Amino acid sequence: MAVEADADELTRSVKEVARRHGAVLVGVAPVDRFDPMPPLWDAVPGGHHPRDFLPEARSVISIAQPILNPVMDAPAVLADRELEMIPPHVKYPYLEALYGRVGHEVHDYMLEFIGQMVGQHLLGRGFQAMIFPTTGLHPAVEGLTDREIWEGSSKQPAVRGSPFRFTFGPFSHRHAATRAGLGEFGYNNLVLTRQFGPRQRFNSILTDAELAPDPLVTEPICLRDECGLCLKACIMECISLRDDPALTDYRSVEKLDGHRIFIDTPARTDPTLCRRRREGRPDSPIRGDCARVCPVPRRPEHLPERLRRILEEWDRPRAAGKGAAE
Ligand code: SF4
Ligand code: SF4
Repeated sequence: MAVEADADELTRSVKEVARRHGAVLVGVAPVDRFDPMPPLWDAVPGGHHPRDFLPEARSVISIAQPILNPVMDAPAVLADRELEMIPPHVKYPYLEALYGRVGHEVHDYMLEFIGQMVGQHLLGRGFQAMIFPTTGLHPAVEGLTDREIWEGSSKQPAVRGSPFRFTFGPFSHRHAATRAGLGEFGYNNLVLTRQFGPRQRFNSILTDAELAPDPLVTEPICLRDECGLCLKACIMECISLRDDPALTDYRSVEKLDGHRIFIDTPARTDPTLCRRRREGRPDSPIRGDCARVCPVPRRPEHLPERLRRILEEWDRPRAAGKGAAE
């Protein structure tokens, strides 16, 4: 049972603890924002709602830590070059490992640590808190190979058409982030914030404390059809917009209204295609081009040749239009 507390003071203290331990963005969503919301009215899948973990949940705290820009860009740029000390057949896995370690794993651990510190703070103030891994789970299942765990298996039926067969994160930090006012979904199926575009990772903490909510984003952040660079940049074409009537996964919707804020994702990524990019294209780029190319919050400058060309093509008609207007 939650104790009474001043919501503003408690919220300030929770945000201060999160920031002191490394969160750069912190937002709060009241739990009723996990009811279906416009424009897409997605329902939380069973077992993934805040109340599934904490029946008395009243607030969800969303935390984010940005990926440093050179961490995101340099491995992709280096893939274009000869590396004097790394033979060509090792170069791609080497650079993927570099990006994975300092662009993902360090965030995974730090955000879990911050979640634990915020959870302990709430417990000390007399409240319950539930914390999560930053990324999906990878359970060991007897009789299934590693690949079958990731991609599903003919021995086991797919769950509601979901592509992540057994590796779902227990809770969607991206959906929590939009509900806590940190950003909106972009066409790349990632959450974009005003501060860092798609270049951050998220985690969430649930609590039975009533915290002061942050307002939802009110202006679009993703540039939508004016841009679409993330869709062009994906070499495997594994991102598709959900207004495609052929899409039948459980999040499908009738038709998108591009002028609304994407609290739910307007896109779908096929994770199996994404994971298999090196099998399909031995020269495929380092993971993350769908984020790397995004011109929010600013046009990226340190890019591999292929992304640089995509951005230049995008710039050309805009520059011509600007010239004509002058
Ligand atoms: S990481 Fe690469 S392959 Fe995967 S969705 Fe993004 S651009 Fe496509
Ligand atoms: S690349 Fe463009 S369309 Fe894709 S998420 Fe970023 S702003 Fe939106």
